Amino acid sequence: MYEAARKPLAKLALTGGGRCNFTNSFGGISSLREAYPRGEQIMKRALRFFDNRDCMEWFEAEGVPYVVQDDGCVFPESQDAMQIVGTLVTLMRKTGVRLVTGHRVEDAAVLMKDSDAVVVTTGGGAIGLLKSLNIEIVLPVPSLFTFRINDGKLGSLMGTVIDNAVLGIAGQPFRSCGTLLITDWGMSGPAALKLSSYAARYLAEKEYRVPVVVNWTGLSEEEAKGRIACLNAENQGKMICSTTFPGLTSRLWRFLVCRAGIPEGCRWSSIGRKSVNRLLSVLTADEYSMSGRCSFREEFVTCGGVAITEVNLSTLQSKKYPGLYFAGEILDIDAVTGGFNLQAAWSTAMVVARSL
Ligand SMILES: Cc1cc2nc3c(=O)[nH]c(=O)nc-3n(C[C@H](O)[C@H](O)[C@H](O)COP(=O)(O)OP(=O)(O)OC[C@H]3O[C@@H](n4cnc5c(N)ncnc54)[C@H](O)[C@@H]3O)c2cc1C
Repeated sequence: MYEAARKPLAKLALTGGGRCNFTNSFGGISSLREAYPRGEQIMKRALRFFDNRDCMEWFEAEGVPYVVQDDGCVFPESQDAMQIVGTLVTLMRKTGVRLVTGHRVEDAAVLMKDSDAVVVTTGGGAIGLLKSLNIEIVLPVPSLFTFRINDGKLGSLMGTVIDNAVLGIAGQPFRSCGTLLITDWGMSGPAALKLSSYAARYLAEKEYRVPVVVNWTGLSEEEAKGRIACLNAENQGKMICSTTFPGLTSRLWRFLVCRAGIPEGCRWSSIGRKSVNRLLSVLTADEYSMSGRCSFREEFVTCGGVAITEVNLSTLQSKKYPGLYFAGEILDIDAVTGGFNLQAAWSTAMVVARSL
């Protein structure tokens, strides 16, 4: 095994903020596509060989007990990524794998001349070693980032957490639901990260300058209209700002009422139809201009890589070059956060191992 870095599995040591979110219970997703915006087809097959339960059992059998969080993320019980790294390195030694660190492979074709099989697992975007081969590459672009939004007023909400937000891009079909976090630079949290994954290629094409639409309530327009009507009926004498919309903090509610152009002292009894419509629009389809992307705890994955059409889906062997295999992020597979990306690496590696 040739490894360009001085230490093996250095990136794995950093995963999950040093805790290694190595797989997921898959309980929180309704379809594989929700977790894998790219590579769903390969993952469907690869998970048949080695799925998340197999992965948890495998690590447990190797002496790594695990914990499954409420959100489905799976970590080693030790909460230490180095335990996963240590386990894999020890196994390599035990099974006689010769590990050559500090050795960058410049051209996979050269290795292929002297080998029965070559497995390329160089990760996202590391495709330089394929340059002399006729392999179709889907242009690599980043995924899993947060949104820079230059809006001083939004910045005043810094630290606000919205549990059931829906994020989208105006005029586009991409949607993500979940927790949204307002930061001093813009939007973060699972809802933003998921949208960055679903729309990774579109966002790259638009140079990360698109109108982002926020539904702060997670409700349909009809439902939100009903809630406003209830608030109106129950609080006629009260000021709109000092009531609260179910599920929103009073700070966010005040901000949105102001954004809808409703004066601070306005009472429910004097709100007009136009103001109700503006409030409804701000609650369910509030638009902000994204002006760039920011990293999330330095975590990212690459969307793109070796085109799925280049490999036999059952073996992950190259269709053009017998004996050449691919596994992990180098393939055009990537997922949302939550342990799904490492599961893709384990599952595809297992497919290749069995093929070999
Ligand atoms: C900071 C961070 C945190 C993350 N946290 C999580 C998480 O908690 N859970 C999760 O599911 N996913 C996480 N991810 C994503 C996950 O780490 C990757 O999807 C996964 O590591 C991909 O595995 P891989 O083996 O395909 O590639 P990599 O882990 O990138 O490994 C590729 C290896 O190949 C080596 N290499 C590259 N080119 C050459 C060459 N020419 N010759 C020799 N060696 C070469 C590299 O040095 C590297 O060691 C995180 C990513 C980052 C950046």
